[in-house]
Amino acid sequence: MKHAEHRMASVLSNELNRLDKIAQESRRKQAFTIDNLRKDLKSIFLFCEEYHKAFNLYVESALKQHENKIKCTSHCGNCCRHYPMSIAPFELLYFYNTIRNTELLLNFIQKCFARVEKYHFLLRNTELKNSESLEELEEVTLHSFFAAKQVCPFLSEEESCSFYKERPVSCRMYFSETESKYCVSEFLQTTLNRSFIIYLPDHIEESIELISKHYESLGFSESFFEGILQVNALEGALFYGLP
Ligand code: SF4
Ligand code: SF4
Repeated sequence: MKHAEHRMASVLSNELNRLDKIAQESRRKQAFTIDNLRKDLKSIFLFCEEYHKAFNLYVESALKQHENKIKCTSHCGNCCRHYPMSIAPFELLYFYNTIRNTELLLNFIQKCFARVEKYHFLLRNTELKNSESLEELEEVTLHSFFAAKQVCPFLSEEESCSFYKERPVSCRMYFSETESKYCVSEFLQTTLNRSFIIYLPDHIEESIELISKHYESLGFSESFFEGILQVNALEGALFYGLP
């Protein structure tokens, strides 16, 4: 476990040093603006691959210490009806770069758009009925979205992720000790569902946050589908001419 944690910390610290240096050389607080992001994309993708590999190792060692057996399999995607949040900006860029080279890009974008609309419709409805804090509103809305059973656009007909290797960390941290049939909203808050999340240590989360700050001026959302739409809007400025 400690080894996996150190590896993750080292991958993140190398990237943070690299971005701090870019910021310093540009005499800014943040490494990136829309003007210089494009020439750094390849390094960002390489970092993201390393980050995902390090996260996989971390999960592997965390699951070894987990007391009960995990029921997740490769063709069970009930959890792919959630509205994924907390996506880091570099993960958005990396994921978008993968889907942009597929014939289904337009279809993906339309489906992401429909999910963003659905989420905001549910959020407005929740707002009208409740007067809780923003955090509570978001939680209720996320639950309603899951209950609406909107399949992720990237889930194949065989119920497996079409971009498994590139999927964001938010999709990699969710597991269950109980069968997939209980990973539906009806069972979420019952004892029949024993799904859980593998959280990262605080110091690792802080490093991810510091790296993400270097992208702040781009204003990317932490919501997966909304973020994909934002990156798509920058297609010409960022990706034009990339293989
Ligand atoms: S969390 Fe549930 S639906 Fe998702 S892979 Fe695991 S068992 Fe399947
Ligand atoms: S990106 Fe892949 S793993 Fe994540 S929710 Fe969509 S289908 Fe599931």
